[in-house]
Amino acid sequence: MIRKNTKKIRIGDIFIGGDASISVQSMTNTDTRDVKSTIEQIKRLEDVGCDIIRVAVPDAEAASAVREIKKAIKIPLVADIHFDYRLAIECIKNGVDKIRLNPGNIGGQDRVRIVADMAKERQIPIRIGVNSGSVEKSILQKYGGVTPEGMVESALAHAEMLEKVNFDDIIISIKASSVPMTIAAYRLLSQKSPYPIHIGVTEAGTIYKGTIKSSVGIGCLIAEGIGDTLRVSLTGDPVEEVRVGKQILKSLGIITSGIEVVSCPTCGRTKIDLVAIANLLEPILDKLNKNIKVAIMGCAVNGPGEARDADIGIAGGINEALLFKKGKIIRKIPQEKIVDELIKEINEM
Ligand code: SF4
Repeated sequence: MIRKNTKKIRIGDIFIGGDASISVQSMTNTDTRDVKSTIEQIKRLEDVGCDIIRVAVPDAEAASAVREIKKAIKIPLVADIHFDYRLAIECIKNGVDKIRLNPGNIGGQDRVRIVADMAKERQIPIRIGVNSGSVEKSILQKYGGVTPEGMVESALAHAEMLEKVNFDDIIISIKASSVPMTIAAYRLLSQKSPYPIHIGVTEAGTIYKGTIKSSVGIGCLIAEGIGDTLRVSLTGDPVEEVRVGKQILKSLGIITSGIEVVSCPTCGRTKIDLVAIANLLEPILDKLNKNIKVAIMGCAVNGPGEARDADIGIAGGINEALLFKKGKIIRKIPQEKIVDELIKEINEM
């Protein structure tokens, strides 16, 4: 994978774009004015490795809540603002690390200048976020509906409003709920813009379908070298968004830390309850801070090969399994003890 070179931009204490690693972000679904619940949710997101968090700021009370939220969390905080430039000003004063705002929607170039000057003074970047559902009418008319060309034109027009006031700490996203449209739009954007790119498939759906749509769309773009930060958008707990985002990066070999699990799909040869064993192990292994490969295999056909190749693994027999460690058979384990003994062995590694 050759990553497209984009401008490197600082957000809080991390970077987006250039040679910075691809960050995974999410958005809270609590009421931002409910500071306690919002902080609690952000802390859960921090625990699963969220790099950047965004909160909706629909009114002055939410803009004021941002100050307390910022104080209580470790990761960079982004304020999501639509239409009201005064909310952006308030959030910048209250210490946010980035603003998500479309300059064309806040009532004119004078207001853009006020927000941009203030953001520049405090070194806060602005993300322009075009969604397929919110492309301007004039562009829709020009292209006869939502098109990748129209989405890119809209995003670049917003960027131009910032450039006109000498602001270029810009990040751009152009999301659609259709995967092919998302991919086509981002491909075009990456040809036409030097700014770091925030990728995602918007309104992707529930955890099951949204995970698949996001993995296909985001995975395809990242494999092509497009994307500096990502958000998986799911109708569900945002913790799942981060877990899926991290897993997409792991699947592409971009994140190499953590435990990699190889497990077979089971078949008519399987004589242990491998599905239950794998499902019990997964959440436990997710929390362990080790960089190893674990193989959970059902039988003696492919099992020993994979288990030997992994750092540790099992190959199932009849109601028991052979335990392999660093390529060698260690011992047999009865089925009911497989999970406990594997965890114990892994903890000792
Ligand atoms: Fe079947 Fe064995 Fe392959 Fe698992 S490893 S799918 S049990 S042949």
